Amino acid sequence: MAANTFAPPTTFLRPNLPRLSRSAHVVVVGAGVFGGWTALSLLRAGMEVTMVDAWGAGNSRSSSGDETRVIRSTYGANRFYFDMNVRALELWKENETRWNKKLFHNVGVLWLCYEDKTPLVDDSIPFADAHGMSYQYLELSTLKKRFPQVNTEDLHHGWLDPYGGYLKARESCQAVGEAFVREGGKFVQASATPGEIKSGRLSGLSLSNSGSLQADAYLFACGSWMGQLFPEVLGNVITCTKQEAYYFGVPRQDSHAYDTLPAWVDVDGDDFYYGIPGNASRGFKIGVDRRGEAFDPTHGDRVSNPDVLARARKFIGHRFPGLKNAPLVESRVCPYENSPDGNFIFDKHPEAENVIFLGGGSGHGFKHGPALGEWVASQLVELKA
Ligand SMILES: Cc1cc2nc3c(=O)[nH]c(=O)nc-3n(C[C@H](O)[C@H](O)[C@H](O)COP(=O)(O)OP(=O)(O)OC[C@H]3O[C@@H](n4cnc5c(N)ncnc54)[C@H](O)[C@@H]3O)c2cc1C
Repeated sequence: MAANTFAPPTTFLRPNLPRLSRSAHVVVVGAGVFGGWTALSLLRAGMEVTMVDAWGAGNSRSSSGDETRVIRSTYGANRFYFDMNVRALELWKENETRWNKKLFHNVGVLWLCYEDKTPLVDDSIPFADAHGMSYQYLELSTLKKRFPQVNTEDLHHGWLDPYGGYLKARESCQAVGEAFVREGGKFVQASATPGEIKSGRLSGLSLSNSGSLQADAYLFACGSWMGQLFPEVLGNVITCTKQEAYYFGVPRQDSHAYDTLPAWVDVDGDDFYYGIPGNASRGFKIGVDRRGEAFDPTHGDRVSNPDVLARARKFIGHRFPGLKNAPLVESRVCPYENSPDGNFIFDKHPEAENVIFLGGGSGHGFKHGPALGEWVASQLVELKA
């Protein structure tokens, strides 16, 4: 697919966004997957770009800072995200070749379906076919045979998307950050605070290293911190919840068989567990998509909740019986930066024409990073020099 051919939903189209000349200086605050890829795309479009991050690209507090993230195109009837992910896949592959770094692991994504009809998957099938990326329908007998580790007793069938898999998450953010600097961008490690808004424009940023920054435009891609930075505008729009992921130790004698399973999603409609076997050798990862409690991404302790862990253990023992008594070898708490409807937010500050917001990844943003960054740059940069 050619670049930028996906059509965004109308909620995402912002005709009032500023158009910046190619000689403009832009400051991007946040070096997570959204900020990093946007900064790199703006730089590659010929702009002067400074990227600022309080704790560095892919840091442990950020949403992008986990070991791995699932990459899948499946979004039910939502063609925008499907197409954006197809473009993202192209860009992940193109850049990992350019950087000689393995970031995308094409292990496939296995959807475990309980009913004859599963709209979340079924409604994506026409898009997959149109892209020549068809999924494989697995009858229960085939599912059992191909993936004997999976308990299929309460399932109806499976779908295997052979084009998806997982990405190395924090390593990708670091690779993007390094490429950004190598290609001429400037990186500053500091916490940024927006200055005054005067005559409809932000006057600058003050930095925790006693410095300040002035630019033609400021793009804030601050993940879970967006609501704290702009409480009046985003305080109730981007909210942060505590999310948990657990890495379990697989049996010594079967480690290869477990580690080479595809990424999986259990479509039970409740906890919505998903997992990344192998998980870059860190353990059999299981994530909980059900929203956790409100969380402070700066000061919150990253200690898992015993009830959430107990439920996840129970589930994993049920779905993967060979892991019933598997030890927990690592766990992570990561913040979700939730938008009201789960869609990304790309908009301008209502009172400052030179301030742009990019966020609301809502538990599914990582995979889209490169395509989103490319698209955002195409919306902001004047085509003529
Ligand atoms: C447990 C979990 C599982 C997930 N699973 C998946 C998945 O399988 N697939 C998928 O595609 N997505 C997944 N996601 C979602 C995805 O990880 C996020 O949507 C994405 O990482 C958000 O990136 P971001 O750049 O917006 O935010 P972040 O990664 O949080 O980056 C924001 C950055 O801003 C910096 N910052 C904040 N405030 C300031 C300031 N004032 N000054 C300077 N710097 C500042 C922070 O240090 C941080 O580095 C998951 C998320 C979680 C938490």
